[in-house]
Amino acid sequence: TKWVYSFGDGKADGTADMRNLLGGKGANLAEMSNLGLPVPSGFTITTEVCTAYLENNETYPDTLAGQVDAAIAEIEDSVGGGFGNPEKPLLVSVRSGARASMPGMMDTVLNLGLNDETVKGLEAQSGDKRFAYDSYRRFIQMYSDVVLGVEHYHFEELLEILKEENGYHLDTDLVAEDWERLVGQYKAKVEEELGRPFPQDVQDQLWGAIGAVFSSWTNQRAITYRRLHDIPASWGTAVNVQAMVFGNMGDDSATGVAFTRDPSTGQKIFYGEFLVNAQGEDVVAGIRTPQNLTKQARLDAGSEMPSMEEIFPDVFAQLVEVYKKLEAHYRDMQDIEFTVQQGKLWMLQTRSGKRTAKAALKIAIDMVNEGLIDKNEAVKRIDPASLDQLLHPTLDPAAEREVIARGLPASPGAASGQIVFNSDEAEALAGEGKSVILVRIETSPEDIHGMHAAKGILTSRGGMTSHAAVVARGMGRACVSGAGALNIDYKNETLSVLGETYNKGDIVTIDGGSGEVMLGAVDMIMPELSGEFGELMSWADEIRRMKVRANAETPLDAETARKFGAEGVGLCRTEHMFFDAERIVSVRQMILAETTEERRAALAKLLPYQRSDFVELFRIMAGLPVTIRLLDPPLHEFLPKTDEEIDELAEALGADPGKLRHRALQLHEFNPMLGHRGCRLGISFPEIYEMQARAILEAAAEVSKELGETVIPEIMIPLVATRRELEILKGKIKAVADAIHDETGKEIEYLIGTMIELPRAALRAGDIAREAEFFSFGTNDLTQTTYGISRDDSGSFLEDYVNQGIYETDPFVSLDQEGVGELVQIAADRGRETREDIKLGICGEHGGDPASIDFCERVGLDYVSCSPYRVPIARLAAAQAAL
Ligand code: ADP
Ligand code: MG
Ligand code: MG
Repeated sequence: TKWVYSFGDGKADGTADMRNLLGGKGANLAEMSNLGLPVPSGFTITTEVCTAYLENNETYPDTLAGQVDAAIAEIEDSVGGGFGNPEKPLLVSVRSGARASMPGMMDTVLNLGLNDETVKGLEAQSGDKRFAYDSYRRFIQMYSDVVLGVEHYHFEELLEILKEENGYHLDTDLVAEDWERLVGQYKAKVEEELGRPFPQDVQDQLWGAIGAVFSSWTNQRAITYRRLHDIPASWGTAVNVQAMVFGNMGDDSATGVAFTRDPSTGQKIFYGEFLVNAQGEDVVAGIRTPQNLTKQARLDAGSEMPSMEEIFPDVFAQLVEVYKKLEAHYRDMQDIEFTVQQGKLWMLQTRSGKRTAKAALKIAIDMVNEGLIDKNEAVKRIDPASLDQLLHPTLDPAAEREVIARGLPASPGAASGQIVFNSDEAEALAGEGKSVILVRIETSPEDIHGMHAAKGILTSRGGMTSHAAVVARGMGRACVSGAGALNIDYKNETLSVLGETYNKGDIVTIDGGSGEVMLGAVDMIMPELSGEFGELMSWADEIRRMKVRANAETPLDAETARKFGAEGVGLCRTEHMFFDAERIVSVRQMILAETTEERRAALAKLLPYQRSDFVELFRIMAGLPVTIRLLDPPLHEFLPKTDEEIDELAEALGADPGKLRHRALQLHEFNPMLGHRGCRLGISFPEIYEMQARAILEAAAEVSKELGETVIPEIMIPLVATRRELEILKGKIKAVADAIHDETGKEIEYLIGTMIELPRAALRAGDIAREAEFFSFGTNDLTQTTYGISRDDSGSFLEDYVNQGIYETDPFVSLDQEGVGELVQIAADRGRETREDIKLGICGEHGGDPASIDFCERVGLDYVSCSPYRVPIARLAAAQAAL
């Protein structure tokens, strides 16, 4: 087996589409080499080796070592040097790289191959002792941290002491001899911590680093990141070993990162940061404030520090060529990493850049206009779930605001919440439903869970490409970074600025679009759904086959849904209309009635309420179909629970409290979700459904007279298991319709159908379709009844199931396509067999989940229905499903 793939010198064994095997970084290093870009030579050890290594007790395939030796020899030939050679040492970096980019998750080791001998070779070769020992101390620190588990702070401390003793302020004040002395102290520290010396053998160094990268696949940070981003543990990471180039070789050297377009707004501007005389992660780590790449960006930022365009015009021009070439080649916005060694440009990484939802839309649309991609591709590229970011509020421009600080607009969106200073606490408070703003000096990969839990992130250090900024944009969290005026005190959990001190729990608002930090909760407004959003959605609408409806019953929900593009109501839950303070009395009277007469009297009082609700709903949805589910929940849900409440009710109704208690007791059920509910209520108390049918049909008649537009009500009967149930209830509804016809002389169009939410109904769908004109899959109940899991009680064990991999995801969130899905498929097939034109839809929570929507497309449903805020997501997901 080929375990090792080489790249460099304008050629490579691999290509960009081998990312499964080579990881994203390795595949793109190969691709850049093939494109003839300047990439330091190196090789990639495949993800298959990672899987084998982790499965076989951390041992490697037998033939790996030979292939690595050969690949090292190739680098030596290309670069001209020897690995471990004391005169002309070859130094390498060891870099991780999984299939999906996992920023900052895995640690990179730079300058590997240095030891007490080779450092002298490096000095002689570069003629720069300071550089040689600076590189060596960086290597010891990184290697010790990543591979040997000796943490950074040990080394930071030694550096601080040395600076203090010499009265230095900056790292750049240290001279060669200082770094040399520090190297001695670092090595002593490692020996003290580990009881053995820092490895001097370069082969030991190399294999130690390779093993550490593979093992890091299972560290906690990586596991958390994978869980949040649905990345399977089975993918593994690749390891890239690559000849070092040095951005820390003096003032004509530099290191930087760039995006080919603005990742916050999507604007077509070359965007990035760099640092002179620096190495590796210095830019992202926020240690020094980085400089702008372009002159324009520098002027916009009002910065005095010269841009790359100004101080390295030649290299800058080359970099511009490279980015244009990369974007044209990949046809997507790229996130690139580069190093300049003594005036020569080297490319170290390229990948599709993370971006905000807003930027993703703009970039996709611009690229269509530029002819780089077509509309289908543009629609495919937008992650439906990310639209959420655009549907959420921004600051009301008219709102009062007290700005206390300003930072960089690192990730757009506005957020208010109480400030907290550590990630565990952010997570805990968010778990209690609190809104929090995570405040950190800077963030690191250890903060991922806190950033995820927070509504927004605020840091006092770090640039636009800092960890906080990149991760926040990826997660769609608002972020203000580098608000330098903030004085953050972790110990006392306070934030001071302009002479004021704020404590943990104080409320602030941040605006990640402007960089402002404000005191208190500032008013927000809903976003406009026009412009780029509207354009992309119109493309999606052209592509999709399935309709998208909303689950809505209140006028507000219905209006929101229509604004978001809903093409009707897929589920109106009538019971939500019963809880109103005025109506609940009549509802309770109806439930407590002992005779049909009494019940009819109570229902007669409810009729006008129901009718006016439907009139309002039909007006909002004029011209569109509206599916109304008749009463579904068990009646006891409407009754008071405590003795006091029962006494109060008895008094209000003028009834005997004892009798009332008795009736409540009678209605009590051990397993109400499988009890007297749904169509079973209609069978026992047909007058309830008759009243509802009358309210619906009269409302339809009224609205079509008023607007001249027809509303076609679809009357839906819940929890049907047998054809006979439906047949009986359909007969009652028809009788009501006929009566209204006799009363008014008007013909009203309507459909009668059922929910498919019991396995028996799915299996007997062929028979049920003789009566039903439509099916709506109630996948919440269908999941509950298929698994035999109560969705109201599953919280206590579902997590165990997901964690142990018994369920891949929560089946109430994403449809179980194998099991529940098979029932849906069977019901759809059998239903269509009986009734060719039967209308099919889904109205469970799954109707707004992109993976489930894809499944619905494959089954050939006519529409999906979801909550109003998910309508745009469903429209896009339905389009992607159709492609
Ligand atoms: P990450 O996956 O966290 O981005 P990388 O493997 O890209 O980690 O390494 C981080 C940084 O280290 C790079 O951006 C680059 O600046 C530096 N680096 C990695 N390999 C080399 C190399 N061979 N020569 C010079 N710098 C390197
Ligand atoms: Mg990188
Ligand atoms: Mg149901």
